[in-house]
Amino acid sequence: MADVAASARAKDAARRTGTQRQVRPTDQPPEGATHPGARPQLSFSVPRRGKAPSHLADLSLAERKSALKEAGLPAFRADQISRHYFGHLTAAASDMTDLPAASREALVGELLPQLVSPVRVLTADKGATLKHLWSLHDGVRVESVLMGYRDRTTLCVSSQAGCGMACPFCATGQMGLTRNLSTAEIVEQVRIAAAASRDGDLTTGPARLSNIVFMGMGEPLANYKAVLGAVRRLTAPVPEGFGMSARSITVSTVGLVPAIRKLAGEGIPVRLAVSLHAPDDDLRNDLIPINSRWKVPELLDAAYDYFEATGRRVSIEYALIKDMNDHQWRAQLLADELLSRGRGWAHVNPIPLNPTPGSIWTASEPDVMETFVETLRSAGIATTIRDTRGSDIDGACGQLATEVLQQERERL
Ligand code: SF4
Repeated sequence: MADVAASARAKDAARRTGTQRQVRPTDQPPEGATHPGARPQLSFSVPRRGKAPSHLADLSLAERKSALKEAGLPAFRADQISRHYFGHLTAAASDMTDLPAASREALVGELLPQLVSPVRVLTADKGATLKHLWSLHDGVRVESVLMGYRDRTTLCVSSQAGCGMACPFCATGQMGLTRNLSTAEIVEQVRIAAAASRDGDLTTGPARLSNIVFMGMGEPLANYKAVLGAVRRLTAPVPEGFGMSARSITVSTVGLVPAIRKLAGEGIPVRLAVSLHAPDDDLRNDLIPINSRWKVPELLDAAYDYFEATGRRVSIEYALIKDMNDHQWRAQLLADELLSRGRGWAHVNPIPLNPTPGSIWTASEPDVMETFVETLRSAGIATTIRDTRGSDIDGACGQLATEVLQQERERL
């Protein structure tokens, strides 16, 4: 008991005097590293792998029509098939009875090749969360997470297989980048989830898929063209796309500044979420390796300009990691950095981690978390602790894929 009281007193004193311990991201090998000397390796090169088969969802409606014309087929078939796919959420030829019976299978097989197949489904949160592991046409694995809430249903999609950004806390980052997903491979994750949600696969009941977050495997802005194509298919009205609101779509980034600026000019007001996790370059250089290219001030300038261009408030994601980035002075520095650019343009989402004994990537103490949040709020920064759905089924992106890969390797 005396020990506990003494340690609490020491912690308080440390906090008051600003001497809280400083854990560094380099104090342990990156998550999922295969040897103790491993260091995060940033990679921008996209490995040359076979492209996914081309699919109706890769094309705009006009492109679909001309593709059919070129194949000697009537252009209105593009409309019919698109309505089944984007409106009724089906890719099964047997559902498309308005197509001529003799050519139905061949037409659907050509325009809607199977791009993703389920490998494993895990449920969590009493069935309100479903996590899918998918196999793509070349055996590459990605995952998506569907989360039902009282007032909305959200899908977290993957945009790349693996990731080249090498964040040391992330299992996906240590896998490296396997390849970019095509637009249709992203859209397929959405279509299947939208059908599952509509059909009541979640215990929260049948519901329209309302929100999409690009926060699964990969850095979305490193696969810009395909992600933007997917966003266009999500937002275009049926039969061109699903007809979702751009305002219900969130694209996250660790800080690819030129791509943020490009996205700001697209005229699609999706929400931008910046995974900041540290307000100072000293820590962020080690925590988010891409910070060696684009520093915090440059990143926040681009995020602010995104707000100016789109009118959408930017989300600042901040995973609270014990003794690494949860110091009160960092909360104050974050508030100062945001306020120096203006008021009300950013919303901070602190993300509580799960306690992981023995790891440096572990949960902040509740009172430390509270102080961090209060410091931001007292400075006038809108701050909401983020829900961490699916955490009991390896919620962090890439963990499920890494685990299954390891099991498969062990079986060989
Ligand atoms: S946290 Fe995101 S950006 Fe960083 S390595 Fe993992 S998937 Fe890539």
